[in-house]
Amino acid sequence: MTEPALDFVIAALEKIRESSDHSPRASRTMLRRLQLADFVAVSPPASAELRKGGRQTSASPSGPRLQGASNKAKLLEPIRECVCACKKCAHLASSRTQTVFGVGNPDADLMFIGEARGVDEDQQGEPFGGRAGQLLTKIIKAMNVARGDVYIANVLKCRPDTPSGTFGNRPPTPVEMQTCRPYLVEQIEIIQPKVLVALGAVAVEGLLGMRGTMRELRGRWHAYNGIPLMITYHPAYLLRNQAPSEKRKVWEDMLQVLERLEQPITQRQRNYFL
Ligand code: URA
Ligand code: SF4
Repeated sequence: MTEPALDFVIAALEKIRESSDHSPRASRTMLRRLQLADFVAVSPPASAELRKGGRQTSASPSGPRLQGASNKAKLLEPIRECVCACKKCAHLASSRTQTVFGVGNPDADLMFIGEARGVDEDQQGEPFGGRAGQLLTKIIKAMNVARGDVYIANVLKCRPDTPSGTFGNRPPTPVEMQTCRPYLVEQIEIIQPKVLVALGAVAVEGLLGMRGTMRELRGRWHAYNGIPLMITYHPAYLLRNQAPSEKRKVWEDMLQVLERLEQPITQRQRNYFL
């Protein structure tokens, strides 16, 4: 933030504080972002001024000057810690092996959103570590992108519990998704990908709060907070339904994503069947 802009924001906040019964409020993410903006972009006199005014930042003024990419990783860290300790859904907090926050490049242009961890990945701290995940990796590779270059997160950070002695997965409930959603919202707010891909109807419901059939939803551009959002089938669906036509649909959706990202597409990719 430039110095005049920062002064303007501070003046506006002070005015709100003086003229209102309530102190101005900002989300945790925004506060962290402001702290880091001060650390990275504000010239030394302005930071000194800020600190003199009692608005301490946790960043050391003599520390290294961070660039944008590591900023996002830094901003995600406190949210990851909150998720790790989260007990908002008591039943899930008590049954989980661990929480699964998200994986990949915090500076990614492309972000995939899944549902929740499955039973075949119970021991892993990463989303999409099982069979569906292998297929997702294959899809990402076919796009000519490394899995480590995208960011992958689930709507639900805990595994949906199932009665003891039973095997398999259950979809997250609407209440569970609503409870966990703020973490995903903050992740997207920080990462600010150029394109979002929601994998399956549950991810769509968790993100947009909207129900629909995949037949209506997929293959078209939607938007989440101004970010273009492509909806496609969940890879687990492709594992259940091996029809080449379904795989081709997912691939066509990914071609649209590549176009939106202005990535070159080879003829081989255009003809590809997953
Ligand atoms: N594993 C995940 O992490 N998310 C899904 O949606 C499916 C499997
Ligand atoms: Fe917390 Fe989300 Fe796990 Fe619920 S599902 S306990 S909100 S991390």
